[in-house]
This record gives sequence, structure tokens and C-alpha cells, in this order.
Amino acid sequence: MDFERRSVSMEILDPARGFQPVRLQLEQRWDPLTGQGCRLLPLLPLLNLFPPAEGDLTSMVTRAAGSCPFCPERVEVVTPRFPEAMIAAGRLRRGEALLFPNLHPYARYSSVAVFSPRRHLLPLTEMTPQLVGDNLAAQVAFARAVTGHDPEARWVSVNANHLPPSGSSVLHPHTQGTAHPFPTTMQRLLSELPADRLTDYIAAERATGRRYLGSTGTVDWVVSFAPSGPAELRAVLSDIRSPEQLGEERVAELASGIATALTFYAELGFSSYNMALYGTPSDAADSDPEGRAMLLRMVCRSNPRPWYRSDVMWLERLHGDAAVDIWPEEIADRAGDRFRR
Ligand SMILES: [Zn+2]
Repeated sequence: MDFERRSVSMEILDPARGFQPVRLQLEQRWDPLTGQGCRLLPLLPLLNLFPPAEGDLTSMVTRAAGSCPFCPERVEVVTPRFPEAMIAAGRLRRGEALLFPNLHPYARYSSVAVFSPRRHLLPLTEMTPQLVGDNLAAQVAFARAVTGHDPEARWVSVNANHLPPSGSSVLHPHTQGTAHPFPTTMQRLLSELPADRLTDYIAAERATGRRYLGSTGTVDWVVSFAPSGPAELRAVLSDIRSPEQLGEERVAELASGIATALTFYAELGFSSYNMALYGTPSDAADSDPEGRAMLLRMVCRSNPRPWYRSDVMWLERLHGDAAVDIWPEEIADRAGDRFRR
């Protein structure tokens, strides 16, 4: 397992110091699973951590409640239902979570699961294991229903956008599930890795201990060595390939880790994130399910505020590399023991 890194430095004449020469330094890293490049820069508030404008955010989100399609007074009227043959009740409920079809067909089967119609305003600080667990349980039930109904839709994922910087168009917090006949680029890449690659990756991170955050039992958490964006965290679930295979206990275990990650993100000063849980079908590429594992990735996005800087620029959008200024090892230090159970 290669954790490849190179130091790169350059000289400029600094206007703040009478044009004296200063050396600037970055560290180039490559992700051991995907090969994706990452440039770790000295801490520059420009890149990631604008102070959160919680006051503005709360008033923006609250204003949108008047016409929100996911709030209790409208959700049953304006959101679609699944055909009876697929999901008999039309929508799925788990605790406070409510799941229905996505109006935007991002995949052959595409779901939206609202954490709770009653919680239009749900900051990351209030993401509890129960709320996240019920939401994930609804997505797992959806995945099970649609893959049972249509075996061609074998590429399953559970995802989240939270607030507009992450790509969310509805401010009311929710997740999105998909089941599709074709993999995403990342699902294809993960399915082509040797069967034991994910477990080897975790074993290597656990051995160095520098970015390893702990295990909740059957789920290991690490900070990404070469993050694809601010504060990328990863969870690896052993002996499973796809979300529809998650039993009740593992849903609760994974959800408690996700809730820990989300409240940690809030503590770091972030309010917007993306998440993806990547399923690969049992018969993809490698036919041996032994030692297979499933990957979850989470990443912070810029804080929403007027004229905020996107965390995605030419490097991320068009070159497929990332530039971040929050170093993975610093995030691991700040996470401490919170992921250990
Ligand atoms: Zn709402």
C-alpha cells in the first residue's frame, strides 16, 4: 500500500516584506485507493474556513420554510410516490424519516429521504445517531425494494448534499439514494480494485496510527491521506458489498459513526457536506465476496455566505486533483478518540 507524498517548494519575492525572497511549500500526495492527487497547502483561510455565518444561514433557511416541499404541510401533497409494485405504500417511513422518489432522475431509481419533515432547520450539531440511523434504514429499505424489483439496477449508493454549497437545491436536510444499471466512475474504480484492497488500506492506516480514528465494531474510520476536499473522512465496512445488505445492527452502527462525523464537522466550523456510500454488485469484476468491503466517504464544503468561495476550482473540477489547507493529520488530532467504541 503506497502512501506516496512529495514536497515541492518555490521562491517568490514577498510584497509584504519589501520584496524579500520567501519560500512557499506544498506537499503533493496521491490517494492509495483512487490515485487521485491532492496538494496540501499552508493554512490559507481563502481555501476552506471562512467563519460560518450561522445567523445569516438560519434566517435564509427559515425564510425558505414558507414554500418548502419537504415541510409537513406540503410533503404528502407535492412529493411523488413509487408505483405500488415497487413500494406498496408509495413512500417509506422509518422513525421520523420519510423517503419518496426524487423528481430529478439521477438514476433509474432515485430516492430522497428527509431526515424529518418537522425539522426544516437541522444544523449538523443536531444530527443524532437516531435521526441518521432512521434515515439510513429508509435508504437501505429503498435499495432492497428496488434491487429486488429490478435486478438490473445493481449499482447502489446512498448520498447526501447538505445546503447549497454541496449541490442541494432544497434546504430542508435530506439524503439521496440511487440504484442504476451502470456504475459511477468511482463505483467502477472501486469494483476494479483487488478484493482485499480496502481492508489492506485500513490495516495500513491502523498500523501507522497517524490518520486512523478508530473502530465502532465492524466499521473503521480514517482521515483520508490525500483528501479530495476539506476534511475528508472515510469509513470501511468489512464483509459487505452494497447498502441493501446492511442489517439493522450495522445500520445503527454506521449511522452512529456518521452522526459523530457530522457533529465533528460542525465543531471544525463547517455547515455543509457531501457523503457517498458506494455499493458494488456481488458479481462485479472480482467474483469472490470474501474479504470484500464497502467504502463511505464524507467531505466538507465551503460555508454558505454571500459571495463565498467555492471549495472546488479548476484543479478540482477539471483536473481531478484537490487543493486543501487543512492537513489530514491535524484533523485526526482534533478528532481524538470520538470514533472508538
Ligand atoms: Zn422544510
